[in-house]
Amino acid sequence: MDLGVEHVEQRVATGPLPAQEEIDDLVARALTHATPHGEGAVADYIPVLARADPALFGVCVVDVDGHAHAVGDTQAAFSVQSISKAFVYALVREHLGHDVVADRVGVNNTGLPFNSVMALELNGGHPLNPMVNAGALATTALVPGASADEQWATIQAGLSAFAGRPLEVDDEVYRSEAATNQRNRAIARLLESYGRVELDPLAVVDVYTRQCALSVTAHDLAVMGATLADGGVNPVTGEQVVAADVCRDTLAVMATNGLYERSGEWLLEIGLPGKSGVSGGIVTIAPGKAGIGVYSPRLDPAGNSVRGQRATAYLSRALGLNIFASDAHVPTRGSHR
Ligand code: GLU
Repeated sequence: MDLGVEHVEQRVATGPLPAQEEIDDLVARALTHATPHGEGAVADYIPVLARADPALFGVCVVDVDGHAHAVGDTQAAFSVQSISKAFVYALVREHLGHDVVADRVGVNNTGLPFNSVMALELNGGHPLNPMVNAGALATTALVPGASADEQWATIQAGLSAFAGRPLEVDDEVYRSEAATNQRNRAIARLLESYGRVELDPLAVVDVYTRQCALSVTAHDLAVMGATLADGGVNPVTGEQVVAADVCRDTLAVMATNGLYERSGEWLLEIGLPGKSGVSGGIVTIAPGKAGIGVYSPRLDPAGNSVRGQRATAYLSRALGLNIFASDAHVPTRGSHR
């Protein structure tokens, strides 16, 4: 995957972020770096998504002090789609604990498209991970609540706490997806047939469809990501949304599965946990440092924002975020070298 960042100096992830003004400058440069890449196609399998303005492009970094660095269309609204999977996973993981969720939902990459039925069939009906639809539907089914309405209220309140403001459903997106989500209904029925969903599968799909239709901005994604970067504390509101160990698990499943079939390439190039959605958003987390939210609707064939990947790759290098990058240590007195 060529993201055009070979010329950007690779800073290492240890140590602090650059100074505030330098972050502003690098966020602006990331936008300029990615803007010429107008290739890719806007998603149209959910009919209303096809109407998104392909020119929109916003990049926002929110650090763990709550400072925002935003350039471009960072207040443009779009439906959160698959990015919701990461945050609903965190809520369920908070509620049920590490072992139960790992057992019920899985953590391994499928190597297959996000809405694959085959992945489920090849794995004896056990969903492979919470970032693809089978595992995401199984995760939504585990959300606490005595009814679908209560589960929905938990999700809406939880994702709003991550964003630090009340998030609302885009009704048009919800209706458009609800009318065309036969495949997700089939996956939910298949999960039911394997005993993996104990609730009414269609009610689970309905809650999942609502969570995908929550309306967010690139700025929201950066705050949501910064909360996962900050041990579960929203750095803008100060609210502890989930526990620190929940963030750790959430980032692990994002790192292995967040960018559809390109998750390995993403990790190789960017070196950070992230999650993308078909409306063109990507949230990326630099643990202990910052969240990055990007929005640009044109997608690569796997469903990841083309400009969003480029801008994030630029920032990973220039801000020193890649968690796998190190410099040779300068031996100190008493060192064994
Ligand atoms: N609501 C979408 C679906 O389940 C999410 C797709 C995505 O963003 O990957 O089909």
